[in-house]
Amino acid sequence: MAVPFRRVSKMKKRMRRSHLALSVPGMITCPSCGELTLAHRVCSNCGYYKGKQVITKKEEAAEEAAK
Ligand SMILES: [Zn+2]
Repeated sequence: MAVPFRRVSKMKKRMRRSHLALSVPGMITCPSCGELTLAHRVCSNCGYYKGKQVITKKEEAAEEAAK
């Protein structure tokens, strides 16, 4: 139910908003390239996960094909 602006005390307003804070995503530094990446996900910079190459970038794949 709507309550007039001045009928809600500062304390009540602050108590309600105590749950509205944004959370920081879990970031780690990639062990293979040292770039900051999201934890438990394939590194977007080098494509490694758990010490294995999972994704090869298009440029790198083209280089490998040339060899
Ligand atoms: Zn990486």
